[in-house]
This record gives sequence, C-alpha cells and structure tokens, in this order.
Amino acid sequence: MKRRMICLLLALTALAGLLVPAYAAPETEPAAIPEQSTDPDTDVLAPADPPVPGTDGETETEPSPLPSPQTSGWKKEGGKWYWYADGVKLTSQWITDGDGTYYVDGAGAMCTGWFTVDGVYYYANKSGLRQTGWLKSGGSWYYLDPATGAMAADGTFAIGGKEYMFTASGAMRTGWISLGGGDYRYADPSGALVNGQWVKSGKSWYYMQPDGLMTRDGVFTIGGKDYLFDASGAMRTGWIGVDIDDYFYADASGVLIRDQWVKSGKSWYYMRPDGLMVKDGTFAIGGKDYMFSASGALRTGWIGVGGGDYRYADGSGALISEQWIKSGGRSYYLKSDGLMARNEAVGKYWVDGSGAWTATWSDAYGMYDNTTVYVSRNGKIHLYSDCSGMKTYVTMTLAQAVSRGYVACQKCF
Ligand SMILES: [Zn+2]
Repeated sequence: MKRRMICLLLALTALAGLLVPAYAAPETEPAAIPEQSTDPDTDVLAPADPPVPGTDGETETEPSPLPSPQTSGWKKEGGKWYWYADGVKLTSQWITDGDGTYYVDGAGAMCTGWFTVDGVYYYANKSGLRQTGWLKSGGSWYYLDPATGAMAADGTFAIGGKEYMFTASGAMRTGWISLGGGDYRYADPSGALVNGQWVKSGKSWYYMQPDGLMTRDGVFTIGGKDYLFDASGAMRTGWIGVDIDDYFYADASGVLIRDQWVKSGKSWYYMRPDGLMVKDGTFAIGGKDYMFSASGALRTGWIGVGGGDYRYADGSGALISEQWIKSGGRSYYLKSDGLMARNEAVGKYWVDGSGAWTATWSDAYGMYDNTTVYVSRNGKIHLYSDCSGMKTYVTMTLAQAVSRGYVACQKCF
C-alpha cells in the first residue's frame, strides 16, 4: 500500500517536473539549481515542486523514470507527445525530426490532423508528420504546399501545369464555379479548370474561353466558326429568335449558318451573310430571284402579288420570267417583269383572263395573220380604226403587230 502511494507520488512529482522543467531537474542535476533558483520567475512556480512533503526520502531511493537523462526528443505524456530540447518542452513551433516536420501547439502537444498556424491550415498524419501535396479528407480534396505544407484556400492555384480552385475552407472545387456577376468557370471531375474547351453539362454545351470564363449571351467565333450562346451560357441550336421576328439558325453542332440555304420542316429558308433569315419579299441569291413568305419560307408555284397578278417560282423556288410554264395541264406565260400574262397576246398566242393559253390569234378570233389591224400610239392592236375615238394609228397586218410586241385592245378583241 505504501509502495503504491510512493509510485503515485512519484508520478505527481514527475508531472510537476514536466510542467516546470526548471524544477524537475534539480533532484538529479544539482548543477542546474544555483542558476535557476536565482531566476525570479522560477521562484513563482516553486510551490509546484514539493507536492507531497516528507516523501523525498523515498523518492531518492526509487530511481525516477523522470526526469530522464534524455534531454532532447519526443516524450509521450498523458497520451500526447511532447518535444524536449535540452530538457525544455517546446511550444507553438515547428519541429524537424529526421526527414519529418512536426508541429507542437501552445501546450507543447504534437499536432495531428488539421491544425492552424498563424491562420494557415496544415495537416499532420496520425504520427504527427506534416503532409504535403494532395490530401483527401472528409470527402473533399485539399492541396498542401509541397514546401511548406500550407493548405491552398480561397483562390486559384497552378498545380502540375493545371489550375485548380479551392474554397475558403480549402476544399477543391469541381463543376461550375460562380465568380459572381453571371461569370462562371468550370472544373472537371479531377478539379482541373477547363480553358479553351467545350463542356457538356446537362443537355447543353458550353464553351470555356482560353481565359477560363464561360461564353454567354452572344455570338462567339470558336475555331473559325460562329456559335450563339444564351444568357446562361448554353449553346443554341436550330432557330434562334432575335429582336422581334428576326432569326438566326444554328445547325445541330451549333454552327451558325451564314449565306446558306437551310431546310427546316418541309420548307427552305435562306440565311443572309450576316446570319439573319431572309423573309417577306424577293431576294436575289446566286443570280436568281426567290420569294420568301413573312415567316421566311421559300415560296414555290403560283404566288399572288395583289391586283390579280401572279408570279411563278419553279420547284427550286427560282422565279420564272420570259418563259412559258405548264401548270394544271395548261400553259401560262411569265413576262419579263415576272408577272403572269393574262388577257393578252404572247407572240402569236393568246392567253385568257386566267392567264391560260387558249389559242393562236388566228385560231382564237377566226382571223388570219395577214388581217389588217390598227395600232394606236400606246401600242394596242385594234380591229377598228375608230375604237375609243382613236385618231392616230398605224396599219399593219396582225402578224406584224404581234411580232412587234403590240398587245390586243380588249374592246376590239
Ligand atoms: Zn380597240
């Protein structure tokens, strides 16, 4: 029983010695006493030295494990490790031991796991060895400076030729990273920031510019081709409305179509050199004229242009002029201005009010081409010299009048 007590007392003495190294030493190293006892500071700590008076005799007979003859190095006390340098416990500093670096906190205890020094985070493994490089902790990746072990935080860092972003708490970012103001960067699953590359996210494509910023809200030239991105940065395809009723068109790969035909649904459309869709009117493309509806669809076949007049576009949409066409089994003529001829002679042929060819002149009117007619100053062919009070005219045969391009007076014919 007494022996146990002694052991306990010894332990207490040892503990006091550790907390106050200056007083732990005197028992075995008398040489140190004179020096330290003159120190006023150590005097203040003196009460800790003799915790149990009257046991000194026993202490001397029991060789004490502490203070140890080892004056520098690690000591485990109360489950924690402490570093002594010449018998003095070091606190709040880096310890270099062999190839490793360690840190002891304010109480001198070796740090493990995360710890901070001057606001900077570091990480030591279970042995207290300070770590460097990549570290996975709590589901996130962290990066510890190879030289100092300082954790990267709150910014962009170049590591191994790539860029990485870390949160204020040091976690490596992946995926979309808002920079505020609608700007974004993107880090792939490895955390590497993507620059000058396409990124597929959800169902959309995005482009990260060489400076790393996501393109958005406008037309951007990438690899010599133009692409349109919406305000959220998604690449657009198909029809893209701009302003009120203007449109761009991007193919399935997102390339904006310029100066080209586009087939959409059952209709053809034409995108101008500036990328806008042609609409509502007649446009010359590649030396031919085409007509487009208000919605931009290319017109084909008969096209009413008001006042009973018609134009005609063939299957390719090209408007026809100075040419006969067949439609619904009948023949029609498109004049040099593109309008369908109606109620008039086309050469030696007559077309009726619907524009359909009915007969040659002679067939239609029971006349022969050498019938004498009267051509008025306005180029109308009359059968009667006094038609509409006409006073000036030229006579010729019907064949001559027709060959000269004169047209029939609707009263006479
Ligand atoms: Zn007449």
